[in-house]
Amino acid sequence: MKVGFVGLGIMGKPMAINVLKNGYEVVAYDRNEAGISAIVEAGGQAGANGKDVAERTDVVITMLPNSPNVESALFDEGGIAEGLSEGKAVIDMSSIAPLASRDFAKRLAEKGVDFMDAPVSGGEPKAVDGTIAVMVGGEQAVFDKYESLLKTMASTVTLVGGVGAGNITKLANQMIVAINIAGISEAYCLAKKAGVSPENVYKAIRTGLAGSVVMDQKSQKIFDGDFNPGFRIELHIKDLQNVMDTAHSVNVSSPFSALAMEIMQSLKAHGHEKEDHSAVAEWYEMVNDIKLQED
Ligand code: NAD
Repeated sequence: MKVGFVGLGIMGKPMAINVLKNGYEVVAYDRNEAGISAIVEAGGQAGANGKDVAERTDVVITMLPNSPNVESALFDEGGIAEGLSEGKAVIDMSSIAPLASRDFAKRLAEKGVDFMDAPVSGGEPKAVDGTIAVMVGGEQAVFDKYESLLKTMASTVTLVGGVGAGNITKLANQMIVAINIAGISEAYCLAKKAGVSPENVYKAIRTGLAGSVVMDQKSQKIFDGDFNPGFRIELHIKDLQNVMDTAHSVNVSSPFSALAMEIMQSLKAHGHEKEDHSAVAEWYEMVNDIKLQED
């Protein structure tokens, strides 16, 4: 099986390298040359554009920022769809709007091409280690065909439903992470202003009911004031916008997600959009005139 890879940024580059390391031939393309060079250095081949990648491979994986980027990579002139033919497949691993996934699946089905949405959780370190979690939307038979390919990048690969279900699961993940970071930041501010060290609070409660992977991964960054990404604020705003659009389309109210998005939007308005999403703690510092770092 020859694998195409389009989108070689923070996540896509290490994921494509893990596919290569597992013995697959990889043809890769990104509109940024640096990503392609990294894959060629690792033993892959350079594609001229999406069409060329799709012509030379059996299945194309995309790892792009949001729905409009995936639509453009698939359907623009010289895009992936032009190189696809019956029996090939596209696996979109980007985090995008579930309704967009369903639309792309329908348009590709007209060419006899299979489609799955397979967004990931875990961030860059897990993408490098090949231990991301993949949540897949698609048909069982298509999943069975590509499960071992997806396992070259991941520790868990779970089929959660039909096309779009992968991105709905990812939105649920992003709601929980955003609200959790805001909750942790709010609690640490209370502790600090009331005279208790946030680090001591963390140590005392991390193994209790309030503890979480988010608390373990983000607390030290908050205590160090180190907001290098990681997962950028601007990408989390994109996910929460997709949460709100999807929630309203199925007539669901999601007030905490809306609030978390507006906090991140306020950080963006202050120029913090390239920082890690743990910088939500900075917003709490601003509104409370406080620093969470140890004195
Ligand atoms: P990124 O911005 O680092 O990489 C995106 C890449 O896509 C860039 O290299 C860009 O040049 C390329 N690109 C954009 N449009 C293109 C097009 N039309 N044709 C070819 N290349 C194009 O983003 P990332 O951090 O790798 O994230 C990718 C996706 O994974 C996003 O949906 C993000 O939400 C999701 N995600 C990211 C993380 C993380 O921690 N960074 C974790 C889980 C999921």
